[in-house]
Amino acid sequence: MSEIQRLQAIIERLVRRIEENQAIARRFHAFEFRMLEADRLPELLDLLVKQGPLHFDLAAISLVLFDPEYEWEQLTEALNLRQWLPKVQVRHQQAFFDDLFAASRAPILGQMDPLTQARLFSGAAEVGSTAIIPLYCKGQLQGSLHLAAADPERFSADKATDFLEHLGAVLALCLNHGLTQEHLRHEGRQDPLTQVGNRTAFEQDLGIELARAERSGQPLSCFFVDLDHFKQINDNYGHANGDLCLREVSRVLRQALRKTDLLARFGGEEFVALLPACDATKAMETAERVREQIEALTLETRAGQSMPLTVSIGVCSWEPKAYRIPLAELSDALLRQADAAMYRVKKAGRNGVRWQPLVVR
Ligand code: GH3
Ligand code: MG
Ligand code: MG
Repeated sequence: MSEIQRLQAIIERLVRRIEENQAIARRFHAFEFRMLEADRLPELLDLLVKQGPLHFDLAAISLVLFDPEYEWEQLTEALNLRQWLPKVQVRHQQAFFDDLFAASRAPILGQMDPLTQARLFSGAAEVGSTAIIPLYCKGQLQGSLHLAAADPERFSADKATDFLEHLGAVLALCLNHGLTQEHLRHEGRQDPLTQVGNRTAFEQDLGIELARAERSGQPLSCFFVDLDHFKQINDNYGHANGDLCLREVSRVLRQALRKTDLLARFGGEEFVALLPACDATKAMETAERVREQIEALTLETRAGQSMPLTVSIGVCSWEPKAYRIPLAELSDALLRQADAAMYRVKKAGRNGVRWQPLVVR
């Protein structure tokens, strides 16, 4: 082989390497862009652990979130964080991350000990090499990202880590931002006294549920719950004991409803609930159970006086298959008629349940 041919071969190899690197850079950029575009944390987590492995041709991706202040913990229910287990886990102790990274702030490539591998990639078929990336945002540890490849050479210890570091920095930023956003969102949607949703949250979610019911054709029902003679309770036992009653009513309602039902404190002493996939018969059974349970509560004031408490519940149900109505009119009509049914209970003496079908006049 002449000298020229040898040089040409070297140049061709270099060009190939550059092209490969450019392709890798493009793949990373595209993914980082999608992470930054994710509107909400659930979308980000889905992207990472479901689409990430396909995008990067990996055996698995997992994430452990560092949660020293229990901020993730507080969002467990709201975000349904358990749906990503075991791929997304939450740890409250720094020690877990110290064990993973020792003192390193850079990604660690190579092979993991089998125990750590089983913990971080449970269920992954074939793991030849792994990358563990610490996630830092503004100098604070947010968690760790773990990539597993079938190819033992993919994350060999001599490989450069700059792409991985960049990916880690963008992810840490997105997680930090997403967590703050979710907390703001959550606080703005929750009633501080009873910890159920507020009217804003209900109105935001109602539209989505109604559209879903229209599409699926499943019936749904709505409750309007009003405490009876609540003004007298406040007058007789004081405002703090009135607040206790509100919390008790919300507790009974929460327990009687399904996780997928919407529940909100609609106003002072009024609660509303939306029960998807629930027809009139089932809704009336549930409402009656709530009424009975509230009547049976044995509430006591601090001074030991017993406080009788009852509620009036109006129920309105919609059968999308039997009755078509424009979506825009639906939410108003449903609430108005559940309220009207509740009002009929009040007129009939309170402590009762009434039902009416949805009709638009
Ligand atoms: P009815 O059986 O007809 O519903 O009578 P009511 O006394 O319950 O109805 P009314 O609307 O006259 O009174 C509602 C009361 O609820 C008046 C208000 O002071 C009280 N209230 C509203 N918000 C709160 C709250 O956050 N805490 C307490 N303790 N009371 C509240
Ligand atoms: Mg009222
Ligand atoms: Mg009332």
